[in-house]
Amino acid sequence: MKRISCTHCGSSEYQRNGSSQGIQRYICKRCTRCFSNNVPKFSREVREKALQMYLNNVGIRKIALFLGASPAGVLKWIRKAGQELSERLQQAAGQVEQQLPDVIEMDEIYTYVQKNGNGQSSGLLILDNKVALLRLK
Ligand SMILES: [Zn+2]
Repeated sequence: MKRISCTHCGSSEYQRNGSSQGIQRYICKRCTRCFSNNVPKFSREVREKALQMYLNNVGIRKIALFLGASPAGVLKWIRKAGQELSERLQQAAGQVEQQLPDVIEMDEIYTYVQKNGNGQSSGLLILDNKVALLRLK
């Protein structure tokens, strides 16, 4: 079930283009740039599962064991997700500002989430666009 897509433009139309150090190379038919088979070892679902487990206070090592990943890898996913989350939150806050000036502050979003979550760590999972949208209504 490997689906390869161009790492540059996301197109799934490509041709084989030789190999480099044993790794199959492909050339994209749309943007004509080269890429290699970079399908991640773990699917997005697995990485999200890791994040969910982490937010439910499962230790990194247990998550790694459960999912057959390395603790370092799990930690990397979590850090990346945290980064993405804070970026999305900033975007959401920007949208909120555009639509409802002076009504909502970043601090208010944090407070709201923490009050309604089961502690700070599970609150993080809700720190998403959804939270901001909820507040917009
Ligand atoms: Zn491409």
